[in-house]
Amino acid sequence: MEPMVINPSVEGYELSRLFGGAGRQGFSCSLSAKVESCKERLDTLLEPRLHYRIEKIDNVGRGFVSIEGGTTFKSSKLSQALKRSDEIVCFVATVGSAIEDKIVGLMAAKRLSEAYILDAMGSVAVENTVEQFHQRKEAKFAAESKSTTLRFSPGYCDWPVTEQKKLFGLFDSEPTGVELLDSCLMQPRKSISGVFGLFHAVNSHAPPPYNPCQDCKKTDCIARRT
Ligand code: SF4
Repeated sequence: MEPMVINPSVEGYELSRLFGGAGRQGFSCSLSAKVESCKERLDTLLEPRLHYRIEKIDNVGRGFVSIEGGTTFKSSKLSQALKRSDEIVCFVATVGSAIEDKIVGLMAAKRLSEAYILDAMGSVAVENTVEQFHQRKEAKFAAESKSTTLRFSPGYCDWPVTEQKKLFGLFDSEPTGVELLDSCLMQPRKSISGVFGLFHAVNSHAPPPYNPCQDCKKTDCIARRT
């Protein structure tokens, strides 16, 4: 299990998407002022941590991905995405509990708009953490003539959230700073776990990685990838 240091960034574009703005920033003056004020405090509230491990894939079949050591993930979309992969990168990332404590405090003080903004910032920060991780790994593996698939997380697409238990079984919980609850939700809440595949690129004209969103009918999915 390896740690990676990543400083997440929180872009207005991503925030506005969570506020229902479809990526158009266009905040009102009062909202902009609150966003700026929350941003100023953000650095002191984020405690980013990311741990990952790379495992060999034993077998990819219809609806499953088996990795060395006996763990088998069950998801049709995941198996389609990883069908050319011979390794799988598993990760757990968090921005910690300080931001969560602050959100709870703001809610208790009935400062709901600030709590909502900070909650959105926490979501953007942890998503940015794993996106940076994926991009860094993509660049590193490209130098070894390997390509990466898209990222997948338990609870999205057709991969049941209960498969979190298998994913967390690959990690020691203490160093990751993330605890898996009986409900299969993570604590701290602003955490993301997931996987992506690694495969040898035959040439630089290899087709783009399989994207299940292209033929998915779930139009309200916030994780849709274009
Ligand atoms: S839109 Fe994409 S991420 Fe969302 S459920 Fe469908 S395949 Fe999964």
